[in-house]
Amino acid sequence: MEKTEALSRRDAMRTMGAAVVTCGLAAADARAQAYAPQKQKQLTKAAAHYQDTPKGEAACGACPYFTAPNGCVVVEGEISPNGWCPMFTTFAPLDRGAHQGGR
Ligand code: SF4
Repeated sequence: MEKTEALSRRDAMRTMGAAVVTCGLAAADARAQAYAPQKQKQLTKAAAHYQDTPKGEAACGACPYFTAPNGCVVVEGEISPNGWCPMFTTFAPLDRGAHQGGR
């Protein structure tokens, strides 16, 4: 009787372990499939709160997301070099994190 209970407990632990590993692999696979920045859609101008005028001295032409002559990596449509949206930054995308110790 005790041996049967011990075996069934062991079997249950193996089953749970296999289930945890399976779930972990499935989650990792889902994350790997979800992370495809080159396939991400651009935001609409409305969603990005884009405006055709600069905000102070900040303008699309100085933003690293701006692509000449009138595009943006993250906002769809025609973008004015004199426009602006709240995603304006002065950090080059590849420099992100450098100010945090290069992580
Ligand atoms: S300010 Fe906004 S819309 Fe303009 S280039 Fe940068 S991210 Fe694109």
